Amino acid sequence: MAANITDIKEFEGEWVWCLHCERASHVSEWTPPECPFEDCDGGLFDGWSYSELRAQAHPEWPQTPVRGKLYPQYG
Ligand SMILES: [Zn+2]
Repeated sequence: MAANITDIKEFEGEWVWCLHCERASHVSEWTPPECPFEDCDGGLFDGWSYSELRAQAHPEWPQTPVRGKLYPQYG
């Protein structure tokens, strides 16, 4: 399974995929560590490495995601 971003520093410069709202955002927006979208209450453990999730399960996702776009985990 893809790693979540509990260690923010380790994921510096990367994109984050939120388990709650399934949207992409940049890791720099996760400080303090919570989902940057106001209508989402996703926290640190909901932020997953976009690149790892893409590599492991979603090769059809773009290398660089569109910020705020929905990338459904299933379907
Ligand atoms: Zn979210």
